Amino acid sequence: MSADRTVLVLNCGSSSLKYAVVEPDSGRQIADGVVERIGDAGGPPDHEAALRAAFDQIADYGDLVAVGHRVVHGGPDLYQPTVVDDALIARVRELSALAPLHNPPALLGIEVARKVLPDLPHVAVFDTAFFHDLPAAAAHYAIDRDVAERWHVRRYGFHGTSHQYVSEQAAEFLEAPLESLNQIVLHLGNGASASAIAGGRPLDTSMGLTPMEGLVMGTRSGDVDPGVLVYLWREAGMSVDEIETMLNKRSGVRGLGGETDFRELHARVDAGDADAKLAYDVYLHRLRKYVGAYLALLGRTDVITFTAGVGENDAIVRRDALSGLLTLGIELDDDRNDGPERGPRRISSDSSPITVLVIPTDEELAIARACASVIG
Ligand code: AMP
Repeated sequence: MSADRTVLVLNCGSSSLKYAVVEPDSGRQIADGVVERIGDAGGPPDHEAALRAAFDQIADYGDLVAVGHRVVHGGPDLYQPTVVDDALIARVRELSALAPLHNPPALLGIEVARKVLPDLPHVAVFDTAFFHDLPAAAAHYAIDRDVAERWHVRRYGFHGTSHQYVSEQAAEFLEAPLESLNQIVLHLGNGASASAIAGGRPLDTSMGLTPMEGLVMGTRSGDVDPGVLVYLWREAGMSVDEIETMLNKRSGVRGLGGETDFRELHARVDAGDADAKLAYDVYLHRLRKYVGAYLALLGRTDVITFTAGVGENDAIVRRDALSGLLTLGIELDDDRNDGPERGPRRISSDSSPITVLVIPTDEELAIARACASVIG
Protein backbone atom coordinates (compact mmCIF):
# COMPACT_ATOMS: atom_id res chain seq x y z
CA MET A 1 0.00 0.00 0.00
CA SER A 2 1.37 3.40 -0.86
CA ALA A 3 1.03 6.37 1.42
CA ASP A 4 1.61 10.12 1.61
CA ARG A 5 4.80 11.45 3.08
CA THR A 6 5.35 10.05 6.57
CA VAL A 7 7.43 10.74 9.65
CA LEU A 8 8.87 8.09 11.95
CA VAL A 9 8.37 9.29 15.53
CA LEU A 10 10.61 7.83 18.23
CA ASN A 11 10.21 8.12 21.98
CA CYS A 12 13.14 6.46 23.62
CA GLY A 13 13.18 5.53 27.31
CA SER A 14 15.89 3.86 29.34
CA SER A 15 14.49 0.38 28.66
CA SER A 16 11.83 0.93 26.02
CA LEU A 17 11.43 2.37 22.55
CA LYS A 18 8.05 3.61 21.33
CA TYR A 19 7.66 4.25 17.64
CA ALA A 20 4.99 5.41 15.25
CA VAL A 21 4.80 6.10 11.54
CA VAL A 22 2.49 9.04 10.95
CA GLU A 23 1.25 10.97 7.94
CA PRO A 24 1.52 14.56 9.19
CA ASP A 25 -0.81 15.93 6.54
CA SER A 26 -3.73 13.55 6.95
CA GLY A 27 -3.06 12.75 10.62
CA ARG A 28 -3.25 9.04 9.82
CA GLN A 29 -1.04 6.72 11.86
CA ILE A 30 0.05 3.83 9.68
CA ALA A 31 2.09 1.89 12.23
CA ASP A 32 2.96 2.04 15.88
CA GLY A 33 4.40 -0.14 18.58
CA VAL A 34 6.78 -0.46 21.46
CA VAL A 35 9.91 -2.51 22.05
CA GLU A 36 10.35 -3.15 25.74
CA ARG A 37 12.85 -4.67 28.16
CA ILE A 38 15.89 -3.34 26.31
CA GLY A 39 18.96 -4.77 28.00
CA ASP A 40 16.95 -7.39 29.94
CA ALA A 41 17.06 -11.10 29.43
CA GLY A 42 14.53 -11.84 26.70
CA GLY A 43 14.62 -8.29 25.33
CA PRO A 44 16.94 -6.78 22.71
CA PRO A 45 20.49 -6.30 24.04
CA ASP A 46 20.69 -2.54 23.34
CA HIS A 47 18.89 0.42 21.78
CA GLU A 48 20.31 -0.21 18.33
CA ALA A 49 18.95 -3.75 18.38
CA ALA A 50 15.63 -2.36 19.66
CA LEU A 51 15.42 0.08 16.77
CA ARG A 52 16.26 -2.62 14.25
CA ALA A 53 13.59 -4.83 15.85
CA ALA A 54 11.10 -1.97 15.51
CA PHE A 55 12.03 -1.62 11.84
CA ASP A 56 11.37 -5.29 11.29
CA GLN A 57 7.88 -4.86 12.71
CA ILE A 58 6.91 -1.92 10.54
CA ALA A 59 5.29 -3.23 7.37
CA ASP A 60 4.64 0.10 5.66
CA TYR A 61 6.67 3.28 5.96
CA GLY A 62 5.00 5.17 3.16
CA ASP A 63 7.24 7.91 1.84
CA LEU A 64 9.43 8.45 4.90
CA VAL A 65 10.74 12.03 4.92
CA ALA A 66 12.01 12.57 8.48
CA VAL A 67 12.54 11.06 11.90
CA GLY A 68 11.07 12.94 14.87
CA HIS A 69 12.57 12.46 18.32
CA ARG A 70 10.79 13.30 21.54
CA VAL A 71 13.32 14.97 23.83
CA VAL A 72 12.08 15.65 27.33
CA HIS A 73 14.22 18.59 28.42
CA GLY A 74 15.22 21.47 26.18
CA GLY A 75 16.61 23.61 28.99
CA PRO A 76 16.53 27.40 28.76
CA ASP A 77 17.37 27.74 25.06
CA LEU A 78 16.08 24.80 23.04
CA TYR A 79 12.39 25.02 22.30
CA GLN A 80 11.89 25.15 18.55
CA PRO A 81 11.74 21.79 16.76
CA THR A 82 15.35 21.54 15.61
CA VAL A 83 17.13 19.53 12.94
CA VAL A 84 19.65 17.33 14.71
CA ASP A 85 23.34 17.91 14.08
CA ASP A 86 26.41 17.26 16.19
CA ALA A 87 26.13 20.65 17.89
CA LEU A 88 22.54 19.98 18.93
CA ILE A 89 23.51 16.59 20.31
CA ALA A 90 26.25 18.23 22.36
CA ARG A 91 23.78 20.77 23.77
CA VAL A 92 21.20 18.13 24.65
CA ARG A 93 23.96 16.16 26.33
CA GLU A 94 24.81 19.18 28.46
CA LEU A 95 21.19 19.25 29.60
CA SER A 96 21.31 15.69 30.83
CA ALA A 97 22.03 16.91 34.34
CA LEU A 98 18.62 18.62 34.34
CA ALA A 99 16.86 15.46 33.15
CA PRO A 100 19.09 12.53 34.07
CA LEU A 101 16.32 9.96 33.69
CA HIS A 102 15.01 11.21 30.37
CA ASN A 103 17.54 12.97 28.18
CA PRO A 104 20.26 10.29 28.05
CA PRO A 105 17.95 7.63 26.55
CA ALA A 106 16.59 10.17 24.05
CA LEU A 107 20.16 10.94 23.00
CA LEU A 108 20.88 7.27 22.60
CA GLY A 109 17.78 6.98 20.41
CA ILE A 110 18.93 9.90 18.25
CA GLU A 111 22.41 8.49 17.82
CA VAL A 112 21.21 5.01 16.96
CA ALA A 113 18.54 6.29 14.56
CA ARG A 114 21.03 8.53 12.75
CA LYS A 115 23.24 5.51 12.29
CA VAL A 116 20.41 3.36 10.95
CA LEU A 117 18.77 6.11 8.86
CA PRO A 118 21.67 8.40 7.91
CA ASP A 119 20.02 9.92 4.85
CA LEU A 120 16.94 11.35 6.53
CA PRO A 121 16.67 14.59 8.50
CA HIS A 122 16.28 13.93 12.23
CA VAL A 123 14.33 16.50 14.21
CA ALA A 124 14.30 16.95 17.99
CA VAL A 125 10.98 18.07 19.49
CA PHE A 126 11.17 19.23 23.09
CA ASP A 127 8.58 18.40 25.71
CA THR A 128 9.34 21.71 27.45
CA ALA A 129 8.85 23.84 24.31
CA PHE A 130 5.26 24.98 24.77
CA PHE A 131 6.06 26.35 28.23
CA HIS A 132 9.15 28.26 27.19
CA ASP A 133 7.26 31.54 27.40
CA LEU A 134 5.59 31.01 30.75
CA PRO A 135 5.05 34.39 32.40
CA ALA A 136 7.90 35.26 34.75
CA ALA A 137 5.62 34.93 37.77
CA ALA A 138 4.97 31.29 36.89
CA ALA A 139 8.46 30.46 35.63
CA HIS A 140 10.42 31.59 38.69
CA TYR A 141 10.94 29.82 41.96
CA ALA A 142 11.22 32.24 44.85
CA ILE A 143 14.80 31.28 45.63
CA ASP A 144 18.12 33.12 45.58
CA ARG A 145 18.24 34.80 42.20
CA ASP A 146 21.97 34.29 41.59
CA VAL A 147 21.85 30.59 42.39
CA ALA A 148 18.83 30.14 40.15
CA GLU A 149 20.46 31.95 37.23
CA ARG A 150 23.81 30.28 37.54
CA TRP A 151 22.25 26.80 37.59
CA HIS A 152 19.33 27.47 35.21
CA VAL A 153 16.84 26.67 37.94
CA ARG A 154 13.39 27.69 36.71
CA ARG A 155 10.04 26.11 36.06
CA TYR A 156 10.24 24.58 32.59
CA GLY A 157 7.06 22.48 32.44
CA PHE A 158 6.67 19.17 30.56
CA HIS A 159 4.06 17.33 28.47
CA GLY A 160 4.09 20.55 26.45
CA THR A 161 3.42 18.79 23.16
CA SER A 162 0.30 17.26 24.67
CA HIS A 163 -0.97 20.43 26.38
CA GLN A 164 -0.57 22.40 23.17
CA TYR A 165 -2.13 19.75 20.93
CA VAL A 166 -5.08 19.15 23.25
CA SER A 167 -5.80 22.85 23.77
CA GLU A 168 -5.80 23.36 19.98
CA GLN A 169 -8.09 20.36 19.51
CA ALA A 170 -10.43 21.73 22.19
CA ALA A 171 -10.76 24.98 20.25
CA GLU A 172 -11.40 23.02 17.06
CA PHE A 173 -14.01 20.85 18.78
CA LEU A 174 -15.80 23.94 20.09
CA GLU A 175 -15.41 25.70 16.73
CA ALA A 176 -14.03 28.69 18.63
CA PRO A 177 -10.84 30.67 17.93
CA LEU A 178 -8.01 29.46 20.17
CA GLU A 179 -7.28 33.11 21.03
CA SER A 180 -10.74 33.49 22.56
CA LEU A 181 -10.53 30.61 25.05
CA ASN A 182 -9.28 30.32 28.60
CA GLN A 183 -8.52 26.66 29.20
CA ILE A 184 -7.42 24.19 31.83
CA VAL A 185 -5.86 20.99 30.46
CA LEU A 186 -5.49 17.99 32.77
CA HIS A 187 -3.03 15.50 31.29
CA LEU A 188 -3.55 12.50 33.57
CA GLY A 189 -1.48 9.51 32.54
CA ASN A 190 1.23 7.65 34.36
CA GLY A 191 2.92 11.05 34.46
CA ALA A 192 0.41 13.81 35.18
CA SER A 193 0.36 17.56 34.73
CA ALA A 194 -2.10 20.42 34.59
CA SER A 195 -1.90 23.66 32.66
CA ALA A 196 -3.74 26.96 32.52
CA ILE A 197 -3.81 28.36 28.99
CA ALA A 198 -5.11 31.81 28.07
CA GLY A 199 -5.74 32.47 24.39
CA GLY A 200 -3.44 29.63 23.35
CA ARG A 201 -0.54 30.75 25.54
CA PRO A 202 0.42 28.98 28.75
CA LEU A 203 -0.16 30.91 31.95
CA ASP A 204 1.02 28.19 34.32
CA THR A 205 1.74 24.49 34.48
CA SER A 206 2.21 22.08 37.33
CA MET A 207 5.60 20.57 36.45
CA GLY A 208 8.74 22.55 37.15
CA LEU A 209 12.51 22.16 36.82
CA THR A 210 11.87 18.45 36.40
CA PRO A 211 8.76 16.35 35.72
CA MET A 212 8.44 15.66 39.44
CA GLU A 213 6.57 18.77 40.57
CA GLY A 214 2.83 19.15 40.76
CA LEU A 215 0.14 16.50 40.65
CA VAL A 216 0.39 13.11 42.31
CA MET A 217 1.38 10.63 39.56
CA GLY A 218 1.61 6.89 39.03
CA THR A 219 4.98 6.58 40.73
CA ARG A 220 6.10 10.22 41.25
CA SER A 221 5.30 12.28 44.32
CA GLY A 222 4.45 15.60 42.72
CA ASP A 223 4.69 18.53 45.15
CA VAL A 224 6.55 17.92 48.40
CA ASP A 225 7.94 20.39 50.90
CA PRO A 226 11.62 20.74 49.91
CA GLY A 227 12.31 20.38 53.62
CA VAL A 228 11.36 16.70 53.27
CA LEU A 229 14.37 16.09 51.02
CA VAL A 230 16.78 17.89 53.29
CA TYR A 231 15.41 16.07 56.31
CA LEU A 232 15.70 12.62 54.70
CA TRP A 233 19.21 13.37 53.51
CA ARG A 234 20.39 14.71 56.85
CA GLU A 235 18.50 12.58 59.36
CA ALA A 236 17.51 9.36 57.58
CA GLY A 237 20.92 8.99 55.98
CA MET A 238 19.43 8.55 52.53
CA SER A 239 21.71 9.46 49.65
CA VAL A 240 20.69 11.93 46.98
CA ASP A 241 20.24 9.06 44.51
CA GLU A 242 18.09 7.13 46.97
CA ILE A 243 15.88 10.15 47.56
CA GLU A 244 15.54 10.77 43.83
CA THR A 245 14.68 7.14 43.13
CA MET A 246 12.11 7.14 45.93
CA LEU A 247 10.44 10.31 44.64
CA ASN A 248 10.38 9.06 41.04
CA LYS A 249 9.71 5.36 41.36
CA ARG A 250 8.27 4.56 44.75
CA SER A 251 6.01 7.51 45.40
CA GLY A 252 2.71 8.76 44.00
CA VAL A 253 -0.20 6.37 43.80
CA ARG A 254 2.17 3.39 43.92
CA GLY A 255 4.00 4.69 46.98
CA LEU A 256 0.79 5.10 48.94
CA GLY A 257 -1.35 2.31 47.52
CA GLY A 258 1.06 -0.18 45.96
CA GLU A 259 -0.54 0.18 42.53
CA THR A 260 -0.21 2.42 39.48
CA ASP A 261 -3.04 1.22 37.27
CA PHE A 262 -6.25 3.06 38.09
CA ARG A 263 -8.50 0.15 37.11
CA GLU A 264 -6.79 -1.98 39.74
CA LEU A 265 -6.76 0.90 42.21
CA HIS A 266 -10.54 1.35 41.94
CA ALA A 267 -11.08 -2.39 42.34
CA ARG A 268 -9.03 -2.36 45.52
CA VAL A 269 -10.83 0.69 46.90
CA ASP A 270 -14.15 -1.07 46.23
CA ALA A 271 -12.85 -4.15 48.06
CA GLY A 272 -12.16 -2.02 51.15
CA ASP A 273 -8.38 -1.66 50.82
CA ALA A 274 -7.42 1.29 53.07
CA ASP A 275 -4.04 1.94 51.38
CA ALA A 276 -5.65 2.11 47.97
CA LYS A 277 -8.27 4.49 49.32
CA LEU A 278 -5.63 6.77 50.82
CA ALA A 279 -3.70 6.80 47.53
CA TYR A 280 -6.84 7.71 45.61
CA ASP A 281 -7.86 10.38 48.11
CA VAL A 282 -4.44 12.06 48.06
CA TYR A 283 -4.41 11.93 44.24
CA LEU A 284 -7.85 13.56 44.04
CA HIS A 285 -7.13 16.14 46.73
CA ARG A 286 -4.09 17.41 44.80
CA LEU A 287 -5.92 17.38 41.49
CA ARG A 288 -8.80 19.45 42.86
CA LYS A 289 -6.34 21.89 44.41
CA TYR A 290 -4.75 22.54 41.03
CA VAL A 291 -8.12 22.93 39.32
CA GLY A 292 -9.08 25.52 41.94
CA ALA A 293 -5.75 27.31 41.60
CA TYR A 294 -6.03 27.54 37.83
CA LEU A 295 -9.65 28.74 37.96
CA ALA A 296 -8.39 31.58 40.14
CA LEU A 297 -5.40 32.33 37.88
CA LEU A 298 -7.50 32.42 34.74
CA GLY A 299 -10.30 34.47 36.27
CA ARG A 300 -12.70 33.31 33.58
CA THR A 301 -12.46 29.71 32.42
CA ASP A 302 -14.22 28.50 29.27
CA VAL A 303 -13.15 24.90 29.03
CA ILE A 304 -11.55 22.15 31.10
CA THR A 305 -10.19 19.18 29.14
CA PHE A 306 -9.14 15.74 30.35
CA THR A 307 -6.56 13.76 28.39
CA ALA A 308 -4.05 10.84 28.57
CA GLY A 309 -4.58 7.31 29.93
CA VAL A 310 -6.49 8.18 33.10
CA GLY A 311 -8.08 11.38 31.81
CA GLU A 312 -9.42 9.74 28.65
CA ASN A 313 -10.62 6.51 30.22
CA ASP A 314 -11.44 6.97 33.87
CA ALA A 315 -14.93 8.41 34.37
CA ILE A 316 -14.65 8.03 38.16
CA VAL A 317 -11.56 10.24 38.37
CA ARG A 318 -13.21 12.83 36.10
CA ARG A 319 -16.36 12.84 38.23
CA ASP A 320 -14.49 13.08 41.53
CA ALA A 321 -12.17 15.81 40.20
CA LEU A 322 -15.03 18.15 39.34
CA SER A 323 -17.96 17.11 41.55
CA GLY A 324 -19.71 19.73 43.69
CA LEU A 325 -18.30 22.70 41.76
CA LEU A 326 -21.53 24.10 40.37
CA THR A 327 -20.94 27.34 42.26
CA LEU A 328 -17.69 27.65 40.28
CA GLY A 329 -19.54 27.03 37.02
CA ILE A 330 -18.82 23.32 36.50
CA GLU A 331 -21.52 20.72 36.04
CA LEU A 332 -20.80 17.31 34.56
CA ASP A 333 -23.42 15.26 32.77
CA ASP A 334 -23.15 11.79 34.31
CA ASP A 335 -24.48 9.95 31.27
CA ARG A 336 -22.01 11.69 28.97
CA ASN A 337 -19.16 11.16 31.42
CA ASP A 338 -19.96 7.45 31.77
CA GLY A 339 -20.68 6.92 28.07
CA PRO A 340 -18.74 4.51 25.86
CA GLU A 341 -17.45 7.07 23.34
CA ARG A 342 -13.69 7.26 22.93
CA GLY A 343 -13.14 10.26 20.68
CA PRO A 344 -13.23 13.99 21.49
CA ARG A 345 -16.43 14.61 23.45
CA ARG A 346 -18.28 16.95 25.77
CA ILE A 347 -19.01 15.62 29.26
CA SER A 348 -20.49 18.73 30.88
CA SER A 349 -24.20 19.48 30.93
CA ASP A 350 -25.57 21.84 28.30
CA SER A 351 -26.20 24.45 30.99
CA SER A 352 -22.71 24.24 32.56
CA PRO A 353 -21.03 27.66 32.20
CA ILE A 354 -17.66 25.93 31.86
CA THR A 355 -17.49 23.28 29.14
CA VAL A 356 -15.77 20.06 30.14
CA LEU A 357 -14.26 17.90 27.39
CA VAL A 358 -12.36 14.67 26.96
CA ILE A 359 -9.87 14.84 24.09
CA PRO A 360 -7.47 11.98 23.32
CA THR A 361 -3.93 13.29 23.15
CA ASP A 362 -1.75 12.40 20.16
CA GLU A 363 1.83 13.37 20.86
CA GLU A 364 3.09 11.33 17.90
CA LEU A 365 0.97 13.30 15.45
CA ALA A 366 1.97 16.59 17.07
CA ILE A 367 5.66 15.63 16.82
CA ALA A 368 5.22 14.49 13.21
CA ARG A 369 3.62 17.82 12.34
CA ALA A 370 6.37 19.74 14.11
CA CYS A 371 8.91 17.79 12.01
CA ALA A 372 7.02 18.44 8.80
CA SER A 373 6.93 22.16 9.56
CA VAL A 374 10.71 22.25 10.04
CA ILE A 375 11.67 20.34 6.93
CA GLY A 376 9.07 22.20 4.81
P1 AMP B 1 -0.48 7.07 29.84
O1 AMP B 1 0.76 7.42 30.61
O2 AMP B 1 -1.17 8.25 29.25
O3 AMP B 1 -0.26 5.97 28.84
O4 AMP B 1 -1.52 6.49 30.91
C1 AMP B 1 -1.28 5.24 31.54
C2 AMP B 1 -2.23 5.08 32.72
O5 AMP B 1 -3.59 5.22 32.29
C3 AMP B 1 -2.19 3.70 33.34
O6 AMP B 1 -1.22 3.63 34.35
C4 AMP B 1 -3.58 3.53 33.93
O7 AMP B 1 -3.56 3.94 35.27
C5 AMP B 1 -4.44 4.49 33.16
N1 AMP B 1 -5.47 3.83 32.35
C6 AMP B 1 -5.34 3.30 31.12
N2 AMP B 1 -6.52 2.77 30.72
C7 AMP B 1 -7.41 2.99 31.71
C8 AMP B 1 -8.79 2.69 31.90
N3 AMP B 1 -9.52 2.05 30.96
N4 AMP B 1 -9.35 3.06 33.07
C9 AMP B 1 -8.64 3.71 34.00
N5 AMP B 1 -7.34 4.01 33.88
C10 AMP B 1 -6.73 3.65 32.75
